[in-house]
Amino acid sequence: MLKSSGQTRKRRRRDAFYMPKTRDIDLLVVSAHAADFVWRAGGLIAKYSKLGRLVEVIALTFGERGESDDLWKHGKNLNEVKRVRRREALAAAKVLGVPIRFLDWGDYPIVLSKEREIELARLFRQLNPEVIVTHSKDDLFNFDHETAARVVSNASILSTHGRGVPPNIPLTRQPKIFGFEPHQPELAHFYPDVIVDISEVYETKKQAMNCFETQKDLIEYYDTRSKIRANHARRISSTSNSKHAEAFTRRYPEVTDRPL
Ligand SMILES: [Zn+2]
Repeated sequence: MLKSSGQTRKRRRRDAFYMPKTRDIDLLVVSAHAADFVWRAGGLIAKYSKLGRLVEVIALTFGERGESDDLWKHGKNLNEVKRVRRREALAAAKVLGVPIRFLDWGDYPIVLSKEREIELARLFRQLNPEVIVTHSKDDLFNFDHETAARVVSNASILSTHGRGVPPNIPLTRQPKIFGFEPHQPELAHFYPDVIVDISEVYETKKQAMNCFETQKDLIEYYDTRSKIRANHARRISSTSNSKHAEAFTRRYPEVTDRPL
């Protein structure tokens, strides 16, 4: 049965106030699992944080099934695994000086739905980020990362276009969207578009990485990777003395009126 226009208006009004836009943030980081935001963008987050810019992290899942092998090996059950991963991610976010929210969508696999896309679009409209950093679209060995890239892209479009699409709260500006470096970059067709020098905040990133007891084995790997990217930074830029760096893809071309 069709709803009367009065009912529709009432519902729109309720939606409009359900989650009002609270603030415009500088950087929103969307992480498929509990620790991705630290391995792949911990330095970038620490830099923003140090500058006093507004940052938030959204973790779609706790990585409870796919990225918590050590806990399962020691006989933890699902709820215990989630609790540990949540605690580790909160500790790392605290080190980086940023808030984190968990959507608890369940991992391996993350299953998308219209409701979940709208849930994320609602958060994007609420936060109105200038920059979004999330997973790059290819990751040969991690379909959750590819799913995260897709849902962020879809939610971003739903947050910037389509006034008739719920949620009925104001559209956002078009954010710049960047992609993380995947775990096996060459196998995921990863070619960096931007390299960010993180030398000055590297100790903070290292401290944040150390919060993840469950994935301790990855710390050395990401330490090495940051040195490799710093090597590229030094080679490409005649002014860089970088010792540690992080690499990202760009989803859209840069638009500028400056001479190149
Ligand atoms: Zn992950």
